[in-house]
Formats: sequence, structure tokens, C-alpha cells
Amino acid sequence: MTDSEKPTAFRSERHDHAACVAEALARADSVCAQRGLRLTAMRRRILELIWQNHTPSKAYDLLDLVRQEHRGAAPPTVYRALEFLRDAGLVHHLESIDAFVGCDADECRGQPQFLICRGCQRVAEIHSQRLAHDAAVEALGAGFQAENEIIELHGICDACREGTA
Ligand SMILES: [Zn+2]
Ligand SMILES: [Zn+2]
Ligand SMILES: [Zn+2]
Repeated sequence: MTDSEKPTAFRSERHDHAACVAEALARADSVCAQRGLRLTAMRRRILELIWQNHTPSKAYDLLDLVRQEHRGAAPPTVYRALEFLRDAGLVHHLESIDAFVGCDADECRGQPQFLICRGCQRVAEIHSQRLAHDAAVEALGAGFQAENEIIELHGICDACREGTA
């Protein structure tokens, strides 16, 4: 984690992704232990598949991957596992592209904002309380009670913009 480059929520290309995966799985274990949730083999495997990279995964692609390993895996099993992971806060569902990405934050409280790169398809999450708060306040002012202040921003990451991704 000693990136001397300019700050970015996106990991550098040379980052140790095995460490990301190990960290995510360790976090899943501790979250589930703390909350008395059961991280079954299926749930764990799907989390691992989602963490194959930092790009979002479609539910049906995950189903395909699982079926390569478990021939008889039924779609509801996979979809329920995804729901479990989402409810546990271990993955996020990106509404705008209907895909799942692993939660990349140690403390993912409140409403994250997602940065979705159209170049490399990677997603990074940031946590600006100000943005979430302002969205809620602006909505209230517009006569609307926001129940979900998650913001998904589409654009281009530095690495893509500089042609280094
Ligand atoms: Zn990584
Ligand atoms: Zn998160
Ligand atoms: Zn990019």
C-alpha cells in the first residue's frame, strides 16, 4: 500500500490483487462471525468470484461460473447467495448497470458513492457524507424523501485517461 502516485480510489495496475481477495475474505469471515451469519461454501465462493477483479459481475455470469464447478447449481441458490452477500454489506449492487462489486471499504457505513470507469470497467467506492447528506437535503427541498442516497458516477479513471490502464 505504498503508492507514491497521486491519490486515487482505484488500485494501481501493479497492486497485489491476491491481497485484496485475502482481505475481502477475511473481512467476510469476521463480519459473519460478529453478526452470527453463516458464510456457507457457496456464499464464500461467490464472494471470491466477485473479487476476481475490481470490475462488476453480472448475476448470470456468476451463475455460469458457479455451474462450471457445481453442475446442478440452481439459479435461486446463486441469487439468494448474492442477496445474502449484499445484505451483509460484503458486496454492493450497482443499480445503474445491474451488477455486483465487492465492498472495498473497511468501514462501509452510510451511503457510498461509486465511481464506474467506462474505460476499464473498474469500480471504486468513496464515502462522502457530504454528498449523501446534500442529496437527501436537496431531495427534501424538492418534496421527496430519499430512502437511498447511493450515487453512481460514470466516467473515466486516471489510468484510462492517461492511457496507462
Ligand atoms: Zn485488487
Ligand atoms: Zn462498501
Ligand atoms: Zn479506467
